[in-house]
Amino acid sequence: MGIFNKMEQHGYEQLVFCHDPASGLKAIICIHDTTLGPALGGTRMWQYECEEDAITDVVRLARGMSYKNAAAGLNIGGGKAVIIGNSKTDKSEALFRAFGRFVQSLNGRYITSEDVGTAVEDMDYIHLETSHVVGRGVADPSPVTAYGTWKGMKACAAEVWGTGSLQGKTVAVQGLGHVGYTLCQHLHEEGVNLVVTDISAENTSRIVAEFGAKAVAPNEIYGVDCDIFAPCALGAIINDETLPRLKCRIIAGAANNQLKETRHGDILQDKGILYAPDFIINAGGVINVADELQQGGYNRDRALKKVDGIYNTIEQVIAISKQERIPTYKAADILAETRIALIGKVKKTLLP
Ligand code: NAD
Repeated sequence: MGIFNKMEQHGYEQLVFCHDPASGLKAIICIHDTTLGPALGGTRMWQYECEEDAITDVVRLARGMSYKNAAAGLNIGGGKAVIIGNSKTDKSEALFRAFGRFVQSLNGRYITSEDVGTAVEDMDYIHLETSHVVGRGVADPSPVTAYGTWKGMKACAAEVWGTGSLQGKTVAVQGLGHVGYTLCQHLHEEGVNLVVTDISAENTSRIVAEFGAKAVAPNEIYGVDCDIFAPCALGAIINDETLPRLKCRIIAGAANNQLKETRHGDILQDKGILYAPDFIINAGGVINVADELQQGGYNRDRALKKVDGIYNTIEQVIAISKQERIPTYKAADILAETRIALIGKVKKTLLP
């Protein structure tokens, strides 16, 4: 399919190819939709097999950011960037400064931040060339993502058990990294029984020691007898192999793209498992970095208050799902699309 056909299909605004021979930069910036505001989304550095893979990834991720930002109630559109290269060997000051100049050339239509393969130091180089970058250490997203995930989990619990309290419940957590650790901390403080797994023995033993969690082998986590399954490691973990093994009543975790295919979301609905759509429940990180764009700069209390709203957003998703008799992943899309369409219409009125 031609690039313009692809852009037309999902309403993409702009695809920018950035090349700087001196630094070796090859990057693509995708702006999906700026109805709500400037397009915000991280810069991923990845050694793509071919250029088509890089384009496919950046457009998919940019669109995802439009939905995430819209559903989170932010006045922010969706975008993303990819730098083609090896994040272990190809990074340099020149590369990120060259990229920063391309970001600057968009004059605020695109705002970048960290993503897979990029770090705060890289953002500092980008910041030498442009102010359109957030998340430079002021607002570490992971603990806030964990906080939002915990709140979203409580909204699911309120739906299923009539109370948002998780005390005495058993939660199986997959992935004990930046987000998983803090999520376990919140759950432990609330009196939750934790069953955990990670491919890192060090991460696992820390959670066992600090929060009295029970550890299981990575592949055993799907079959754990639990109330809630919280995927906080990888995507595509809800699939044909894992679905028959799940014993939980709720899936609520921070990992991106948890459903391998959308039909797996339909199966969850049929099985009576309440699924908290990933881009709704894990929006704490982006809500947090977006707060840096407010006048006067970042305010943690204000950011956390906004993240508390994830509870309410999950309630709205569940309400749409029940009303329309559709799975929650579809309801989440409708919530985002409706807000973009409505605010787009509101903005049609000319301001003097
Ligand atoms: P992280 O890299 O710090 O942690 C991931 C953990 O998962 C690591 O400890 C890793 O060892 C473990 N892991 C990897 N493969 C595993 C497997 N097969 N089984 C069990 N454990 C495995 O990442 P993070 O920042 O904690 O993010 C976790 C997830 O949440 C990712 O999917 C990420 O995309 C998503 N997410 C994170 C944020 C954020 O603010 N950090 C925001 C939105 C979404």
